[in-house]
Amino acid sequence: MRKILLYIVFGEDKGYYNGAKFSLLTFMNWMSNEDSFEIVILTENPGEFKSYPVTVFSISPQQRNEWSLNGKYGFRIKNRGMAYVMDRLELTEKDKILFLDTDTYFHKSPLILFDLIQPNQALFYLNEGLIYKRKRFQVYIDHLEGRSIQIDSSLYELSKKSAMWGSLMVGIMPNMRPSLDWADKLMQVFIEIVPAHTIEPFSLAESLLRKYKMTEGKKYVSLYSTSRKKKHAIPIISEFLNKCQKLPLDKQISLAQKVVIKRSVFKIIKQRILHLNKVIMSKRPIPILMYHSIEAMPKSTVMRSLHVPPKRFGMQMWLLNILGYKGLSMRELTPYLEGEKTGKVVGITFDDGYQNNLINAAPTLKKYNFSATCYLVSQRIGASNTWDFNKGITQRPLMTQSEIKEWLNLGLDIGAHTQTHPLLEELSEQQSHEEIFNCKAELEQMFKVSIKDFCYPFGRFNEPLVNMIKDAGYRTATTMSRGRATPQSNKLTLPRMPITHHTLPHLFLAKILTKYEDNR
Ligand SMILES: [Zn+2]
Repeated sequence: MRKILLYIVFGEDKGYYNGAKFSLLTFMNWMSNEDSFEIVILTENPGEFKSYPVTVFSISPQQRNEWSLNGKYGFRIKNRGMAYVMDRLELTEKDKILFLDTDTYFHKSPLILFDLIQPNQALFYLNEGLIYKRKRFQVYIDHLEGRSIQIDSSLYELSKKSAMWGSLMVGIMPNMRPSLDWADKLMQVFIEIVPAHTIEPFSLAESLLRKYKMTEGKKYVSLYSTSRKKKHAIPIISEFLNKCQKLPLDKQISLAQKVVIKRSVFKIIKQRILHLNKVIMSKRPIPILMYHSIEAMPKSTVMRSLHVPPKRFGMQMWLLNILGYKGLSMRELTPYLEGEKTGKVVGITFDDGYQNNLINAAPTLKKYNFSATCYLVSQRIGASNTWDFNKGITQRPLMTQSEIKEWLNLGLDIGAHTQTHPLLEELSEQQSHEEIFNCKAELEQMFKVSIKDFCYPFGRFNEPLVNMIKDAGYRTATTMSRGRATPQSNKLTLPRMPITHHTLPHLFLAKILTKYEDNR
């Protein structure tokens, strides 16, 4: 009786080849001379295995194409590869074939696996449960229930006994060879009607279960195929092979047993915590504060809400600081918005460039080592908010060129707010283009800093404008849409939270810390 271990290894990923080598080394540790073991590798790269006592069959590019249905379903290579190898091996009826995925390894004797393979019993890795009992198999019920599929001269129907079996290990005997073909035909029907990538193990199990019993081999083999385990295992295996591949085979076999693939409890916990942290942080809201003027104004002031008294502003920055938040300019905030950095941060923005930002806000920002972006109207520098004049809104002086330089010298930042603060939506394409492109050029020329951050005047934007902002080379653009930004937000239509005269401390905290702004 021949006991044949089979690996199918293809593709570009070196990890699969290393995995197969490591797996066979750990298997060979348990082989005895009395048994007639053979290790067979079906692969696209036969050269990888030339230093091992294995029989290699190669997969030609044509076979790979044919078996994967021209790349449409790569997992079909497993079924077709197994059938191909069985046909080439000149098997007799008592021989046993054990197929293994490349991410399996053995730290205890796997020899019993061959005993479990019997003429009336196939071996699979694991019974994952009945299709009708597990919610995650619902896709099979949705697409197969009540359907009859004709395969050769028999009919296939989903039944209450239909189950999913993990096929990373498949043990069969030559009498079962026709079941592979039948499963393959079934799988090709499934490809058209069942949108699930598990149709390969499912069709094989359904096919074998028509005639044979099935049993599990899970407890005799270890595997590292789930995502985070794999990330941990692949470098360990690759390092082992780099170090040991040149050693005599018996040495490699004994050293392979000493490799620790299992992660320590601490490592597992650490990985889980870091992963969870990453998930939480990647969804963490990033508030961007929108200020205009920082000045105490008399009660009679039109649109007094646009003016935040310096004391109130000071209180807000103090709150951010004691809560452990760092106030950042849009330039510094960008890596957080892009998900590259994580942390407790808020964006601080000032629209229009009021002189009182330098006088009343800058010292407070510096006190807490915060930064901020002031959005400038390039052709109103040193003038006032003339665009508000007709609405009767109080005119306040805007920073002059030298005051802006002072602002920059403090380590604070500037962004673009167009040339003249128009309603961009009402302008021609040509005019908008000038306002958006020239503002950037003028500010860069005047202040010798790159201008990457834009703010839509009156918060108004539409799709062509967003595209124009992108073409002009801005990386972020803020709106007056309310809410907290997240790394999922579109960087060119960022929401902000207005901070006004009326934003008392409790409201300020609600805006920063809660969903208060998100659904407004
Ligand atoms: Zn403005």
